[in-house]
Amino acid sequence: MPGLVDAAGLVRLAPNLGWRDVAVPELLAGHPPLVEPVPGVPPLVVENEANLAALGELHADPEGPASFLHVSGEVGIGAGIILDGALFRGVRGWSGEIGHLPVEPEGRPCRCGGRGCLERYAGQEVVLAAAGLAGADLPADTAAARLAGLAAADDPATRAALAEAGRALGVAVAGVVNLLDLDTVVLGGGYALLTPWLRPPVLAEVSRRVLTAAWSPVTVRPSALGPEAAVVGAAGSVVRRIVADPVGWLGRPG
Ligand SMILES: [Zn+2]
Repeated sequence: MPGLVDAAGLVRLAPNLGWRDVAVPELLAGHPPLVEPVPGVPPLVVENEANLAALGELHADPEGPASFLHVSGEVGIGAGIILDGALFRGVRGWSGEIGHLPVEPEGRPCRCGGRGCLERYAGQEVVLAAAGLAGADLPADTAAARLAGLAAADDPATRAALAEAGRALGVAVAGVVNLLDLDTVVLGGGYALLTPWLRPPVLAEVSRRVLTAAWSPVTVRPSALGPEAAVVGAAGSVVRRIVADPVGWLGRPG
């Protein structure tokens, strides 16, 4: 879910869906299960998509860094924080709402009720509009492919839109890096394809704003999985539950 999910699977807030306090397990109660129920594994798990995308990236590359920030750029912008090989969930599982970090404290109003949030400068709708594609209601991977095509063809409006998005993203990322002492930032979702144009302005802000950047450079790289990271993370999380408790799985009926 692209929003704040609590331990019972209640979506407290998903600003871009206009959802507040939606009980997803109840919504799906009458739906037949997609797979045979597995003992020891809950039949339905509701999780934040940015958290799953970060886990997907972690599981996909066991040789990769044990700590990193994964930023998913879609209509909304979410992040998953991986610390020492595990997802940092926060007290209630609501960490990583980087899309609502202010990058201009008195800036544009946001659907969350705040002002100047990162999403209002680097979210998909804003970047599409700035690139002259306003109103194009596209899935994240299609939108990113369109923008990447225009940027590769040196379209000035698209280049400027991505430079501005990258600047805002860099301000937010620099704050996270200062706070958590991370050295790797993975750009995921639609951002993965746009990394060649987002990375320079992100790095420029990081080197200006991160206190330790002079001694410990921050790597900004695209996700290996792109828009599929959340699905890979979700599947991997179920497999990992089975591996952690194989007796339950082996003892299943039939
Ligand atoms: Zn906001």
